[in-house]
Amino acid sequence: MSTKTFPLTKDELEAIAAVFGTPFYLYDEAGIVENAARIFTAFAAFPGYVQHFAVKALPNPAILRLLAGCGMGADCSSLPELLLAAEAGICGEKIMFTSNETPAAEYRTAAELGAVINLDDLTHIDFLEKACGIPPLVSCRYNPGDKKQGNVIIGNPVEAKYGFTREQIIDGFTALRKKGAARFGLHAMIASNELCEDYHIETGRLLFEFAVEIQEKTGIAVEFINIGGGVGIPYRPEQEPFSYEKLAAGLKAAYEEILVPHGLGGVALRTEWGRAVTGPYGWLVARAIHRKAIYRNYIGLDASMADLMRPALYGAYHHITVAGKEDAPLEDVYDVAGSLCENNDKFAIQRRLPAIKTGEADGDLVIIHDAGAHGRAMGFNYNGKLRAGELLLSTDGGRAGGKKTVRMIRRPETVDDYFATLRGLDPTEVIV
Ligand SMILES: *Cc1c(COP(=O)(O)O)cnc(C)c1O
Repeated sequence: MSTKTFPLTKDELEAIAAVFGTPFYLYDEAGIVENAARIFTAFAAFPGYVQHFAVKALPNPAILRLLAGCGMGADCSSLPELLLAAEAGICGEKIMFTSNETPAAEYRTAAELGAVINLDDLTHIDFLEKACGIPPLVSCRYNPGDKKQGNVIIGNPVEAKYGFTREQIIDGFTALRKKGAARFGLHAMIASNELCEDYHIETGRLLFEFAVEIQEKTGIAVEFINIGGGVGIPYRPEQEPFSYEKLAAGLKAAYEEILVPHGLGGVALRTEWGRAVTGPYGWLVARAIHRKAIYRNYIGLDASMADLMRPALYGAYHHITVAGKEDAPLEDVYDVAGSLCENNDKFAIQRRLPAIKTGEADGDLVIIHDAGAHGRAMGFNYNGKLRAGELLLSTDGGRAGGKKTVRMIRRPETVDDYFATLRGLDPTEVIV
């Protein structure tokens, strides 16, 4: 079981809504910091351990700065993500640049920032050399093909576009060394939202064994092994939370068993989790403005799938509570809908909830849980929908007491933002 909590009372939430309007994302600083501490405590037994936060999960510099303060680096996959990491003060080898189909300019920026470039393909070795030269430290992404089953969100490795094959990694490291690389990293990212600790331990084991094989075949001892992201969160209350302690213990045992006897006891472990780091500490808060009763009962929110598309995209479950009605009986069944002209714009389908009051001014505030990763970040503007802003809740003196402060860390989009790409157009006409 996992308990679904929210850090504010209904009155506090209404006070915030009165200033900033609805809908909005709210992130809980204390929750994020406590979770980061849990991760670093669990992995303290791995010298040189680095956790790179996957920027795509929550690309906000205020959050990245907070995570950097906890000791995290960043995992970036595009030019803007590199710039976000830099803006948050994360640079050098604390950045892992794991991109694919990468333009030369992005490799150049990554190299300028001193990021660890994680190549996605054998052909990218020459491409990188032409773009900015081969840096001393290079990492390669391994696609284990049929050696490992993927999971539902990310698909089967054999069908995945990412990474080098096993033989290509051996050839790639050899080629990189010839071109001047002296330090090497091995990376894989195979699963997404995987709650089974053993799955991630198996990924570690696979990479550890491969590192031994690489050493035997090329003489190269990798400096780090990055087991990727993909730790899941219990979106449903009946799911068990993930145990970092169990994962770390399993990885440590595999490390001692496989790497240490081959003289690879100095290899540093890296991870690049996004979802598990911030997901449970973010909520989308929207007001219930409409209700309708046709063949089903609907509650209409002032947010839409443009703010949070996971339910529409993957049929994902997000727990929903109603502010001030946390303990009320679940006496109604609703489809909770957004305003987009797509029938899959539903945050919940046939969900048992307390009776919900609707109204633009006095409707209930509906809290959509576990939206702190791959939430606002995946938003879009289809149908002229303007995305919600983001707020950060800070608690002086930690969760135990102190006063709560909420500040804006991203404003909501405006109509001007929507029109921005239609203004100031290049007047050139090309006659062909
Ligand atoms: C998306 C992604 C991550 C983060 O995944 P989570 O499921 O959020 O942990 C890490 N690494 C790479 C290469 C990714 O594409």
